[in-house]
Amino acid sequence: MSSLKIMLSNKSFSKAELVNSAVVLLGALALCFGSLTEAAQPKVSSYLLKDFTPSQVQVIAQRFEVKLLPTKLSRTQSASPVFQAFVSELDLKSFLQLAPRAQLLEDDTSRESHNAFAAGRALSGLSASGYHSLDEVQKLMAQMAAAHPNIAQLTQYGLSNQKRPLLVLRVSNHLSDGKKVPRVMLTAATHGDEIITTEILLSLMNTFLSGSGQIPQFENLLEKLEVDFIPVVNPDGFAVQNRYDNGQDPNRSFPFPKQPQAQPTMSTQGVMSFVKQYPIAGSIDFHAYGRLVMYPWGYTHDSIPAQDKAAFEAVTSRMAATNGSQHGPIADIIYVAQGSSADYYYWKTGALSLGIEVGDSKAPNASQIPLYVKDQAESTWIFLDSFK
Ligand SMILES: [Zn+2]
Repeated sequence: MSSLKIMLSNKSFSKAELVNSAVVLLGALALCFGSLTEAAQPKVSSYLLKDFTPSQVQVIAQRFEVKLLPTKLSRTQSASPVFQAFVSELDLKSFLQLAPRAQLLEDDTSRESHNAFAAGRALSGLSASGYHSLDEVQKLMAQMAAAHPNIAQLTQYGLSNQKRPLLVLRVSNHLSDGKKVPRVMLTAATHGDEIITTEILLSLMNTFLSGSGQIPQFENLLEKLEVDFIPVVNPDGFAVQNRYDNGQDPNRSFPFPKQPQAQPTMSTQGVMSFVKQYPIAGSIDFHAYGRLVMYPWGYTHDSIPAQDKAAFEAVTSRMAATNGSQHGPIADIIYVAQGSSADYYYWKTGALSLGIEVGDSKAPNASQIPLYVKDQAESTWIFLDSFK
């Protein structure tokens, strides 16, 4: 497929040349001061649930983020599946009352991402390959919008708990003529420690904007579709590589059919209001890790209606085949997950809403970033192309 080659090309950001070393130095200084004033986020630990019965896991999953443990972390063979639970220190006491046999796996889930971020900074310039800080991500979004004023628009759709702007880059051929076309939303870093997802989205954004006006397939797509990029859904968490949004799991905080009155986190409220403003036809929420392409429901093992399931199966089976992922309903693949983004968007808009767990790490060595991007490029193209 020729579009694949296009998606895989790894051009430098178009405005990169304009960023001189003085700006980079100022950015680095700002980052140093910024990190001194970063508000502390409640620590998130992870625990192993080994030899728990399904009903015990079910009870825990009602209140905590629980996932089937990827085999990479299963050190010992166990007769029953091993689960991993993520727990904010705010809720640690009630978790340990509920699961006293749980074994501590990671004392602080932000450590791995923090180390990968510190070791793999994009220091030679904003555009360089490597991990970008929140400040740099926002600058890149502004630069891309400035470089492509006819098709790209940077919009603030809300504020985080700590008053950081929630930003989306809207890419469309119809920003000025107002023609309504289906809208697809691509989001990353809902979990702030899954820093690889932001780099994937930045790279896809760049490829997309560089290709527009030059490559017929992109031109075609943008004529029929608006693509909205939100590389950081949860800036308060992302700024310090913390998984949660001020102590609460954003991806368990969305309302869902059994709990329409759920209290979303601030960043979740922001993205919900953005979706209400402009209903979407589809979405991918990128997470890491596990190589999974998933669709609703997450909150129940019950299936979505057969016609919808067929549509989800048709596209996710093709996406998963590009990079060796599993595909299927969230509840069957990860575990029952109440309050996830895919469930909410599908429930409220009927959109083709997916959750993707990329690769084998949430924060791989920075040298691996291009491989992770490559892994998602064709899959994302297939997804976008399915709306034409
Ligand atoms: Zn996640």
